Amino acid sequence: MPQKQGTPALQDIADWAYAPAPQATDVVRIAPENGLFIGGEFVPAADGRQFATVNPATEEPLAQVAEAGQADVDRAVAAAAAAYEQVWRPMPGRERAKYLYRIARIIQERAREFAVLESLDNGKPIRESRDVDVPLAAAHFFYYAGWADKLEYAGLGPAPQPLGVAGQVIPWNFPLLMAAWKLAPALAAGNTCVLKPAETTPLTALLLAEVCQQAGLPPGVVNVLTGDGAAGAALVAHPGVRKVAFTGSTEVGKEIAAAVAGTGKKLTLELGGKAANIVFDDAPVDQAVEGIVGGIFFNQGHVCCAGSRLLVQESVAEPVLDRLRRRVATLRLGDPLDKNTDVGAINSRAQLDKIRELSDSGQEEGAERWSPPCELPERGFWFPPTIFTGVSQSHRIAREEIFGPVLSVLTFRTPEEAVAKANNTPYGLSAGIWTDKGSRILWMAKRLRAGVVWANTFNKFDPASPFGGYRESGYGREGGRHGLAAYLDA
Ligand code: NDP
Repeated sequence: MPQKQGTPALQDIADWAYAPAPQATDVVRIAPENGLFIGGEFVPAADGRQFATVNPATEEPLAQVAEAGQADVDRAVAAAAAAYEQVWRPMPGRERAKYLYRIARIIQERAREFAVLESLDNGKPIRESRDVDVPLAAAHFFYYAGWADKLEYAGLGPAPQPLGVAGQVIPWNFPLLMAAWKLAPALAAGNTCVLKPAETTPLTALLLAEVCQQAGLPPGVVNVLTGDGAAGAALVAHPGVRKVAFTGSTEVGKEIAAAVAGTGKKLTLELGGKAANIVFDDAPVDQAVEGIVGGIFFNQGHVCCAGSRLLVQESVAEPVLDRLRRRVATLRLGDPLDKNTDVGAINSRAQLDKIRELSDSGQEEGAERWSPPCELPERGFWFPPTIFTGVSQSHRIAREEIFGPVLSVLTFRTPEEAVAKANNTPYGLSAGIWTDKGSRILWMAKRLRAGVVWANTFNKFDPASPFGGYRESGYGREGGRHGLAAYLDA
């Protein structure tokens, strides 16, 4: 395409040089071997098994981590049950709150350490772990600390009671933040917890366990079991667990729902998504482009509520896509610990393979694939920001969760068509609307089957705001007053 005068070519944009701005890593001390956190102590797995966690940006091992087996799940649930009966349940809410405030403050004090460790273990840009994951994790503890002595005013009955031991299984995309989302409301409500972080990102959950020790949290109130899916399954199935909270794939969510059925355990599932980010012809284009970019390339697209389907009104598709490509060409991909980096590493080889396979299917099914000129590092797991145009609703890239930096673009002509296309998915976690008209926002929001609808923004999170899905995106809400309901027998 000929360039407008004064408009730089994409290659020139991609070549803009930035001086390196590396984040120092000496704030973090990673022990070569890391135990499970049970009953307030770090202990080896009963059978001594360990696995390695690697830095996805370099493929180098960071540490060995204990691999929990059935005996460890039994020990952790027993420790959590004892702490529940003897200490945490009888403790007045105002006292529990003090521990949560203390944990929140220590996360803030050790924020840099958490951010660096998260970027090392997960591959996400330091800018995101520093400015999003860690502050939001602290904010969750602050927020729920405030609820601990006010549960009877939460609108859940005059004397809501905790449930007991919560078994919590979390994914690798926001390791610390998901731990905070799970632990903070459970603890505020008076439950004790056994948390199973994802196999590829165990380190910040272990640092959070250390923070619990530092805060003087009574032993057994929080337990952390590192390990694989089998440890998660054993935790979910344990008869001593009264509440199960899971965030991850819809596939595993279905297995967990089946395992829990008929046991009387309370269950919340926060699963996948295929969100539509809908841009109308009256939207402020520059802001919308920022929202599209943030919606899909934030955290390498490893976001359950990512705006992975762009629905753009046909009359403005060309200018929007033109500006979008220019903006995407400015994204810096590379070292997650460089403060200029926008797009970091893919979390694991398995995830990279999945992204490649789905992207190849998009091309084979006839969509047009585009990535900006961008060099991928030689080692590590990397995938360039990618945009597919000419996508039809039957394509796999329009239906399946890719969970990577890949955007599928579809067009629409009328608001009715936008709603029909947006809802044409088995998921229903989030959606975005970009338009100048408030009335249109309300009209659309009413019809979109999504748990969260953002208007003229995207991926905005706040501990006071409930978050959760419809249909195959799961059930139950996390965050806000609603998030307490999952942890109380009201
Ligand atoms: P999973 O759903 O497999 O993993 C989530 C968590 O569940 C991990 O801690 C995992 O352990 C654990 N787990 C795995 N199997 C079981 C089981 N049978 N019972 C209990 N717990 C279990 O996600 P993956 O990491 O495998 O990712 C696969 C796909 O899922 C991604 O490509 C993406 O599409 C989607 N995904 C969606 C997320 C979301 O927030 N919506 C988050 C993560 C993934 P382990 O780490 O050992 O596997």
